[in-house]
Amino acid sequence: MITKRLFASKMPGRFEGKVAIITGSSNGIGRETALLFAKEGAQVTVTGRNLERLEKSRQALLDAGIPESNFLIVSADITTGSGQDKLIGETLEKFGKLNILVNNAGASIKDPENKTGISQGLDVYEQTMKINVESVIGLTQKTRPHLAKTKGDIVNVSSIVAVKAGWSLLAYYPMAKAALDQYTRSAAIDLISEGIRVNTVNPGIVQTGFHESEFGWSAEEAKKFYDDMGANRSSIPVGFAGRPEHIAKTIAFLADRDSSEYIIGQNIVVDGGTTLVLGIHANVLNSLSNS
Ligand code: NDP
Repeated sequence: MITKRLFASKMPGRFEGKVAIITGSSNGIGRETALLFAKEGAQVTVTGRNLERLEKSRQALLDAGIPESNFLIVSADITTGSGQDKLIGETLEKFGKLNILVNNAGASIKDPENKTGISQGLDVYEQTMKINVESVIGLTQKTRPHLAKTKGDIVNVSSIVAVKAGWSLLAYYPMAKAALDQYTRSAAIDLISEGIRVNTVNPGIVQTGFHESEFGWSAEEAKKFYDDMGANRSSIPVGFAGRPEHIAKTIAFLADRDSSEYIIGQNIVVDGGTTLVLGIHANVLNSLSNS
């Protein structure tokens, strides 16, 4: 048994020898993805704007036993060209190549006047498109030659808000994620001839800092939201709100060529069943779970 364990600990991880940039890894899904990739052998660049959050990610990597030589922390605003150049430049300088780009950073921008739906201002629309779509376009264009050299992989993080349903509270964030899904399809076709694969993960409700930023909530308010949603099977049929590792594992699957080589330009929905529920049978689901 002991011999088996020793042998297992020496098995190479599936990302051994790979270099990955994971945007939005100062928190939530991105941090969990960076940890998973690093534990499986990748050299990872962790990035975001908030220095305190970046320090928490650094500490989490060190606590997991990842040596400083295997990760890089870059503070950058990826909605700016200079932030994108810094992120890519520092990664190449430290690790010498790039194999995987995870475009995970994203946000639903809070309206400064608390307007909702289609009353939200154009400035909210512009900021929303900048972080959720334009930063992905910029990073994809700029990493293309480096990923072509390594026959690399891109995984974008979209959302279930991109599906064909109306969202009364928000108009622009779902538009941005729908645009990201279509961009993924076009990029996938354009880049596969260079050996670069592009795919997308569409999460449902996941317990991160996302809803605190989106609605200006406290951590307690966000927890109550996740608990209430999880307790309501017409919202989340599996019966609990998602955790960052659910998404990180799917990102890893799509970034790992051995696992997913033949998947090109697709979306994988990871939402505990949320998008399977229609209003007409939601009450039935609720009564079943209460009985
Ligand atoms: P968090 O708010 O916990 O993390 C968002 C990350 O994005 C942070 O690391 C943040 O870094 C980074 N980020 C935001 N704006 C910028 C910017 N301008 N420049 C650089 N980094 C930026 O949310 P999640 O982990 O939940 O979000 C990850 C992805 O998952 C997003 O694309 C989101 O849209 C998507 N998603 C999340 C869902 C959920 O329920 N949580 C559901 C569906 C999709 P910093 O603050 O340090 O700048």
